[in-house]
Amino acid sequence: MFRAMITVLAFVFTASSAWAQSCTGNPVAVQVLGSGAPGFVRDRANTSYLLWVGNQAKILLDAGGGAYVRFGQSGAKFSDLSMILVSHLHPDHVSDLPGVLWSGRNQRQDTLPIVGPSGDEAAPSFSVFLDRLFDPRNGAFEVLSSVMPNSKAPGVKLQPSVIDVTRPEPATVFDRDGIRVTALGIPHGNLPTLAYRVETQGKTVVFSSDQNGTNPHFADFARGANLLILHLAIGVGAKNPNQALPAVVGQMAQSAKPGRVILSHIANFDLDAAVAEVKQNYSGPLTVAADLQCTQAP
Ligand SMILES: [Zn+2]
Repeated sequence: MFRAMITVLAFVFTASSAWAQSCTGNPVAVQVLGSGAPGFVRDRANTSYLLWVGNQAKILLDAGGGAYVRFGQSGAKFSDLSMILVSHLHPDHVSDLPGVLWSGRNQRQDTLPIVGPSGDEAAPSFSVFLDRLFDPRNGAFEVLSSVMPNSKAPGVKLQPSVIDVTRPEPATVFDRDGIRVTALGIPHGNLPTLAYRVETQGKTVVFSSDQNGTNPHFADFARGANLLILHLAIGVGAKNPNQALPAVVGQMAQSAKPGRVILSHIANFDLDAAVAEVKQNYSGPLTVAADLQCTQAP
């Protein structure tokens, strides 16, 4: 009971403050760096999350606009990261990647796995995306070509992996140092998009990204997660075939039966009405994301 009260107080505190927040000291926790969708949503950076294990941020998932600032506010160390995971190539998920790498590149000399989706007619594969950004001859950021795998310059070296989003079964993308990560393609219009499942220290965290909720395998992929991050991208009654309506988000949560749901990727719609509709379809614990908020995996 006492522990539960502390948890509630922690939620209230983190949700009400936009200043630097520590997410250290939990066995496994998720810190929201950016809880906002596109549309200039007040007080919300675009999509980005940190997965903390103990006192280290081990995974950076997505780096939308504002992630660079929030990363600094979080107190995370770039040198602690075991990997960077990218869900898809909409700018609100990746536009701050160069900024994060520019600041972090000289804080370590080892390799850093970075994972993203395969391409199609709507977007390049993640490896082509990285080439177009950082190739030493043709990249938009030639100045940051030191991060490419073959560079002889000092600093961190990215170790890219591309996951085929059309695979029906989850793909293992990382399995080492006590962290296992799998990825599953999820339907988000014609843009290749991945959800990620992270298992470490006996806890499971599933990050859904933008999706319309129609992949029948997603419920299995997310089932039993201690924490499930779902994107509440559109409001009640909205029409957007690329995103799940609040009722569908609630149904996804209900079928996955997680320890707690975090609703994120929030846009300028009636949030109370959308959350109410989620709750009509999902009866478990639920947190509405805020930037820098830290939630321990229950
Ligand atoms: Zn998107």
